[in-house]
Amino acid sequence: MSNPVRVTIWNEARHEKSNPTVQKIYPHGIHHTISEALTQLGHVHIRTATLDEENHGLSEDILTNTDVLFWWGHCAHGEVNDDTVDMVQRHVLEGMGLVVLHSGHFSKIFRRLLGTNCSLKWREAAEKERLWVIEPSHPICAGLGEYIELPHTEMYGERFDIPTPDELLFISWFAGGEVFRSGCTWRRGHGKIFYFRPGHETYPIYHNPEIQKVLHNAALWAAPSMRKRDSCPNTQPFEALPPPPADIVSAGIQQDASQL
Ligand code: ZN
Repeated sequence: MSNPVRVTIWNEARHEKSNPTVQKIYPHGIHHTISEALTQLGHVHIRTATLDEENHGLSEDILTNTDVLFWWGHCAHGEVNDDTVDMVQRHVLEGMGLVVLHSGHFSKIFRRLLGTNCSLKWREAAEKERLWVIEPSHPICAGLGEYIELPHTEMYGERFDIPTPDELLFISWFAGGEVFRSGCTWRRGHGKIFYFRPGHETYPIYHNPEIQKVLHNAALWAAPSMRKRDSCPNTQPFEALPPPPADIVSAGIQQDASQL
């Protein structure tokens, strides 16, 4: 069997410090609960990082040794250093997987990689969500039933301003009537990205075994098969090319070649 997937779970971890409801549900932080769940399900090696650590708990070395980065943020997206966003983006383009959770839809790194506003409608009314599994054969949906039901959630509604996903895996229906594209994948460079909607901090979403199963599946799916930095190389032809006509040489090719 292959080596364990090296997962880094990044959490803003601010609500846990200030909100008693969140403290009660996640006494050691959302990152800790997700870490325990993934470890329990096996074949992963977890580390965690949080916003208030030095350099947000991330470094070139940590990301080089991270197969999949999870990202949970909400009230302090603007405090994430742009240098960190640049670094994470480069590692995704080189092959590192990225799993963006819930309110991470408005994080700098998600908007940077997708190139759109990533806005949506929202409402906090503890309503029911039915999360329909629409691609049961996808590895991220392995082991799930026809849907996941969450009795009390924050509502996210369309329009979700994202590029059309490469794969749409989950659609949510809410008791208030809205729908939402809750599980989406994209590729950017060599990296795989998965966005998963559930996870509002005042409900015990990450204690739900089915949600934990999706996160574990996502970690295994997003792990890279290779890492590569593309560098736009000038390259020689594989076969001998006939000499171009004299007028083309003088007008273009020779001149372009001299500029390289
Ligand atoms: Zn929320």
